[in-house]
Amino acid sequence: MIDNGTPQATIGRRAAGTLVAVAETRLVIIGGGPAGNTCATHAARHGANVTMIERDVVGGAAHLWDCIPSKAMIATGGAMSFLSRSEGMGLADVQPAVDLDALRSRLDRIETRLQGQMSSLLESQGIDIIRGHGRITGPHRVVAETDTGDRELEADVIVLATGSRPRIPDWCTPDGNRILTTRDAYPPAEMPSHLVVIGSGVTGVEFVHMFKSFGADVTLIVSRQQVLPQKDPEVAAALEEDFLRRGVRLLKGARATGADMTDEGVRVTTDDGRAVDGSHALLAIGSLPNSEGLGLDSVGLDIDGGYIKIDHNCLSSVDHVYAAGDLSGKLPLSSVAAMQGRKIAEHAMGLHRDRPHRHLDYDKAASAIFTEPEIADVGLAEADAFAEGRKIRVTKVPFTVSAKAMINDDNRGFVKIVSDPATGVVLGGSIVGRHAAELISVLAVAVTAGLTVNDLVESLLVHPTLAEVLAEAAE
Ligand SMILES: Cc1cc2nc3c(=O)[nH]c(=O)nc-3n(C[C@H](O)[C@H](O)[C@H](O)COP(=O)(O)OP(=O)(O)OC[C@H]3O[C@@H](n4cnc5c(N)ncnc54)[C@H](O)[C@@H]3O)c2cc1C
Repeated sequence: MIDNGTPQATIGRRAAGTLVAVAETRLVIIGGGPAGNTCATHAARHGANVTMIERDVVGGAAHLWDCIPSKAMIATGGAMSFLSRSEGMGLADVQPAVDLDALRSRLDRIETRLQGQMSSLLESQGIDIIRGHGRITGPHRVVAETDTGDRELEADVIVLATGSRPRIPDWCTPDGNRILTTRDAYPPAEMPSHLVVIGSGVTGVEFVHMFKSFGADVTLIVSRQQVLPQKDPEVAAALEEDFLRRGVRLLKGARATGADMTDEGVRVTTDDGRAVDGSHALLAIGSLPNSEGLGLDSVGLDIDGGYIKIDHNCLSSVDHVYAAGDLSGKLPLSSVAAMQGRKIAEHAMGLHRDRPHRHLDYDKAASAIFTEPEIADVGLAEADAFAEGRKIRVTKVPFTVSAKAMINDDNRGFVKIVSDPATGVVLGGSIVGRHAAELISVLAVAVTAGLTVNDLVESLLVHPTLAEVLAEAAE
């Protein structure tokens, strides 16, 4: 049964209030994560007839397994480590302990509330949400396999936003109990006494920080000589220093080749012959795109390693099929996925022709690592500029100069700003320290809007705040 009708003539509203007859665009989205949701709401707001197929929960992996539960666990761990430093704040010694059931209900509460909010928003905009597995069956046809049978849908525009899942290597079989993927960790059935984290990228280091805050012993397998191999070495060094201070064991230059269950727990072996025994192991070695079973062959889309190739408008090699989010193989960030979804809605509905349109610039995406201290950056990195032989001005101010950092009893870290020496335009920056993930927004706006260091210096900021250090670093 084909049940989303044919394009209908409707009345649309254009700029300056003129009413024009437009054909309603039938947009079918597969995947309800940040990419799919944002595309759906933006397109519906502009008059599209939107159907979204989601096989799990609206909100996607981002709400269920990735951004939200990981940051909620980190916030609880952060509260624990802050309270255990309470003497510095002039309080009597406090020794908090984790309550796994309370933590589990906290995570459930957040997830239920976010999912409810998201479903209400989509429904209030008239978006048809189909629970089931979506698959393309022809150039303009999608099938949703549901519990009550298949539903066939006609689409003018198809958006693929099916996200990704943790990569599981062939040398290890996670059981969800002792050998965990990131999806088994919110929280695990029992708190690990010694967790071996495999993978020292963004996800790996966040899990190191999370479980260390809960009091576990943690060993991190680092395949190179630096944690966060893609990051500015100075920034990575600040994190390593903190890990070592907190007693995290770093196994550098070692690639895990096995993780096996033992009588006492788990043994992780590495390619240089070393072995680490722990109570639990956690895999954080990247992700794979959810592109199987999507019917990509039926329309002949160009793919690369399972990721759908897209152009600067997120358009695939087929002119009415778009891809967004992790499936597009660009930056695997929720914020980027959402912005791609928005840009797709604008492009698919022709809105980019009527109004100022800015292409998505992945090089200007801000990102953060929710460790302690937090690490955040945006735009051009100092190391990359040097590698390219580009002339830059780099200014750096530590949080030790900040009154607010003193008030917070936490003056770790620094702000570094990279600017153009000729024009003063802010090209990028890094922040290490408390609330870095929030503070980087100021630099992200500066980078996107082409503001100068002088614009930052002359902004009247609130005192006392950590943000004042941004203005000082811009001097
Ligand atoms: C541990 C972890 C922490 C992270 N933390 C952050 C963070 O703090 N900030 C940040 O910006 N990014 C973070 N990320 C990355 C972020 O989660 C992803 O980039 C983001 O979820 C991608 O959004 P998406 O819409 O592409 O896909 P997803 O959020 O994965 O959503 C895709 C949806 O598609 C559905 N689906 C898949 N196939 C089908 C099908 N055939 N039919 C119907 N439905 C289907 C899935 O059920 C899912 O709901 C984190 C990632 C991990 C692993």
